[in-house]
Amino acid sequence: MPVISPKKPYRVGRSRTGLGLFATQPIKKGTKIIRYFGPLLDSRKKKDDAIENKYLFELNNRWTIDGSVRKNIARYINHACKPNAESDVKPRKRKVFIRAIKNISPGDEINYDYGTDYFKAYLKPIGCKCDACEKKRKKKRAEARAERLRLKAKAERKALRKAEKQAAKAQKEKLNGRAAGAKTNGARANGRHFNGILSNGHGRARATATTSAAARPKASTKLRTPATALGREQQASA
Ligand SMILES: [Zn+2]
Repeated sequence: MPVISPKKPYRVGRSRTGLGLFATQPIKKGTKIIRYFGPLLDSRKKKDDAIENKYLFELNNRWTIDGSVRKNIARYINHACKPNAESDVKPRKRKVFIRAIKNISPGDEINYDYGTDYFKAYLKPIGCKCDACEKKRKKKRAEARAERLRLKAKAERKALRKAEKQAAKAQKEKLNGRAAGAKTNGARANGRHFNGILSNGHGRARATATTSAAARPKASTKLRTPATALGREQQASA
């Protein structure tokens, strides 16, 4: 970790992406926090133009600051899509300052927007890890989870409705069967003997099947036969 004067309102510390710069004192909105500095590279010089690293800060078409030097503490400041600081560029003076655009509390990580070019080249391919993007991802995950649960609940409701419908259908069929059975009750009540025979299940199955009025006389003729048979039996036993 680089040595920083305790008078400075920041320190280098662990952040989500590695190292970052954190406030150690309250920093008021509008305050210059730190200068981003390093050797000036001239794009007209082949040697300068060939330099490539992640800390190049372009001032204009000609001049670029190479911020990769160790003394440049500002290079520890991470990018954020919704930052609490900004880079204040003075192209004529060839100077860059990082300035607070919000009141920053001790412990807060200081960050600024690196700009679209950097974002596209370095952050988009790996996924930006800033608070705003993490929050967005978290929200998306929560929404996807909620959607999955909603669909699951919907499927369960559908299955329940289907089961209820089937149960109701079965119940209706059962009731219809009973109603048909009740129609033959009159005939059944004609004699005690019939009841005994009907409860065998033999006569009852027929009775449930015959729901139409036309079938009724047939049932009554049928009912007469066992009676005579029984009568014959009684005669035989007598
Ligand atoms: Zn982001």
